[in-house]
Amino acid sequence: MIIDSHVHFEQDRLDEIVAFARVSEIDKLCISTLGTHSYIPAPTREEIIVCNNATLMAMESYPDVFVGFCYLNPNDGCEALREMDRCLERGMKGVKLWIASKASSREVAQIAEHAMEHGVPLLQHSSNKTTGNSEFGSNSSDVVILAERFPKLTIIMAHLGGNGYRGVADVEKHTNIFIDTSGGEPTVGITEHAVNTLGAERILFGSDVPGRSFDVQIGKIFGAGIKDSEKDLILCGNMKRILKL
Ligand SMILES: [Zn+2]
Repeated sequence: MIIDSHVHFEQDRLDEIVAFARVSEIDKLCISTLGTHSYIPAPTREEIIVCNNATLMAMESYPDVFVGFCYLNPNDGCEALREMDRCLERGMKGVKLWIASKASSREVAQIAEHAMEHGVPLLQHSSNKTTGNSEFGSNSSDVVILAERFPKLTIIMAHLGGNGYRGVADVEKHTNIFIDTSGGEPTVGITEHAVNTLGAERILFGSDVPGRSFDVQIGKIFGAGIKDSEKDLILCGNMKRILKL
């Protein structure tokens, strides 16, 4: 089995996404939507509900394929926690945070604590851009602050490609941080470096479709000079454990 830990979707292209995933022999997709028409960095409460309802509908259409992650705006305070409860009660298995608030902020801490109490992973957008992040975009140092506050929370730091060697070095000591392999095109040596530094147990296959494509992104694992047993963990075993499948 192959599980993609990081996928977005457009509501009217569900069938297409599932068909493409099947071509790459990917069985399960962890999905969230950051906007049903275009991505919304700081969504209103109403927009959040529309996004999550689209995810719930997708889960209903393909219950064996889609695993829902709820998209939240941490600045919504208690409303965000209520929305998390609504989504988890309806079968979602994780939380996705994008760029409305930094991972090191008090607002995200509130979300993180709630996710930890529910035993669900937090997929946190992060990158170390040489040109600088967006105002409330997180980098790997922000994710480390979050991990130190909540050592029992499972944090998936998105984008090995975007966090790079610095990101791997930053999170090394924080064993509750996993990294997904999304971000950029395949780069020689980075998957091997992450596996050698963190252990394959902490790396998750993630494509970040539709920003990227399944077949190119999966090449980061299939083409890496690592053991088959390590590839199995990255492609499936680790995420199975995190999602308690
Ligand atoms: Zn994403």
